[in-house]
Amino acid sequence: MERLHLPLLRDPLVDSFARRIRYLRVSVTDRCNYRCTYCMPEELEDRMHFEPKSAVLTFEELERVVGVFARLGVRKLRLTGGEPTVRHGVVELVARLGKVPGIEQLVMTTNGHLLAELARPLRAAGLQAVNVSVDTLDPAKFRRVTGRGDLSRVLAGIDAAVAAGLRVQTNAVALAEINGDELVALCEDAWARGAVPRFIEHMPMSDGALFEPARGISAAAIRLTLESALGPLAPAEATRDGGPARYWTVDNGRKRVGIISAMTEHFCDDCNRLRLTATGDLHACLGHDDATSLRDILRAGGSDDDLVTAVASSVTGKRAGHVFAENPPSKHMIGIGG
Ligand code: SAM
Repeated sequence: MERLHLPLLRDPLVDSFARRIRYLRVSVTDRCNYRCTYCMPEELEDRMHFEPKSAVLTFEELERVVGVFARLGVRKLRLTGGEPTVRHGVVELVARLGKVPGIEQLVMTTNGHLLAELARPLRAAGLQAVNVSVDTLDPAKFRRVTGRGDLSRVLAGIDAAVAAGLRVQTNAVALAEINGDELVALCEDAWARGAVPRFIEHMPMSDGALFEPARGISAAAIRLTLESALGPLAPAEATRDGGPARYWTVDNGRKRVGIISAMTEHFCDDCNRLRLTATGDLHACLGHDDATSLRDILRAGGSDDDLVTAVASSVTGKRAGHVFAENPPSKHMIGIGG
């Protein structure tokens, strides 16, 4: 892709590769109740600086920032973390952000640990969909992989979310030792619960500390495994849904599966996303560390125009794509939220 030289602010949400931003992912906390081996294991904790509460954006600050993005054209908002459900008052936060004019899709990524209790109130507050992380269906392995997790709670959370009327997708990071022999079972289980299964290629974060390419299962290998067990995969009618997954169908279009092939078949050319950390750092790309602090502008009494100028400058500087393989970012997935 070639960088265009557009004047700053021509359209603050069109980047210099003519990509239009429509989707904002907001990490609402950097805390997580799980310690997944491939994301934030206990032994990496001392490298992670957990932010004090005073550093985290308040609900009022989040509402204001989301309002600015929505006025500029953002239509989809995903709450993530850390673990978003451990943010105190998360149901109220959803209700408030759901009322921001212009936001059409309000969704969440969660580990599901608290979802059995929260699914109905979250749905009633205006949440439309959840992505729930389920890396293995073996309870003992699940515990080992998540450090503190409880598979039965998560599965109950998925069932509660479906019953509450939330659209549900499952996320499994495809790693040989965790779920290499469970790809088909993870699909069958998700479908049986009324969810759409998805697989994510492992990405190197945290300076690559947890990344070993040989452990990862590529999108092509995932497709091969699924096809040999389930029959041909056909590209879904809406192959992309405004997010990073590519969707496939099996069983004559009756069942869907998504694959997020960030490493082997990346999708940077049509990236439509920005990411905001819990402390208000705006990241234009998951794979690079550069960020712009919107919190500094908010807390220095900046105007909405000041926020727009900062957003426009971040969008203009959005890189052509990630360089995960050559130069992994230092930031941690738990801090940025995936
Ligand atoms: N705590 C929530 C959860 O578990 O879904 C939200 C945050 S978590 C960082 C978001 C997603 O990123 C999860 O599905 C998780 O499995 C995935 N993830 C974490 N580290 C990853 C990595 N290095 N590469 C790819 N996906 C990763």
